[in-house]
This record gives sequence, structure tokens and C-alpha cells, in this order.
Amino acid sequence: MKKEQKKEKELMNECKRCLLYEMADRDLYTRIRRTIEAIPASMRCEEEAYQARLASCKTCEKLISGMCRVCGCYVEVRAAKREEHCPLPGEKLW
Ligand code: SF4
Repeated sequence: MKKEQKKEKELMNECKRCLLYEMADRDLYTRIRRTIEAIPASMRCEEEAYQARLASCKTCEKLISGMCRVCGCYVEVRAAKREEHCPLPGEKLW
């Protein structure tokens, strides 16, 4: 596949303001779920706060295909860690 075709395909697969669990790539989501489940309970964000964080990400223009374009993290992982925060400069959303 030519480089331009590959880039075009990648763009078509991008989903603005989507979380990974909403995307078609189930293998990636399964790997990300395993990563989240490996976070020790003592370091994990409580479920209600986790869902609120993800809801904020869903309103953010920096969210593309489950990834935060500010930090490069999959937000479902970043938000699962209690001590993490939104990296948006000057106006953290959580
Ligand atoms: S900037 Fe903050 S709210 Fe926006 S996608 Fe990144 S972590 Fe989520």
C-alpha cells in the first residue's frame, strides 16, 4: 500500500471524540482493558469519577480515536489512574 493510501486509510479510521470502547478495533480495546485491570486497586480511580473523566474527554476536541492529542495517552487508561489529570494546558477538564 502506498504511503498516501495508508495515511488516507488511517484518517478514515479516526473518530473524533470517540473512546476506544466505541471503536471497531476490539483487539486494541481488549489490550487496553487488560492494562486498566492491571492497575492496582489502590491506584485506580473510583468508577463514578472515572466515568465523569471520560465524559469530559468526550466533549474535548483533543480526543481522537480514544487518544488524547495533548499527551498521546489512551484516555481510558490515563483516566483510570487516580493521580492522573487532564493535561490540557491552562484549562484541565478533569
Ligand atoms: S485534553 Fe483532557 S479532556 Fe481532552 S482528551 Fe486529553 S485528557 Fe481528555
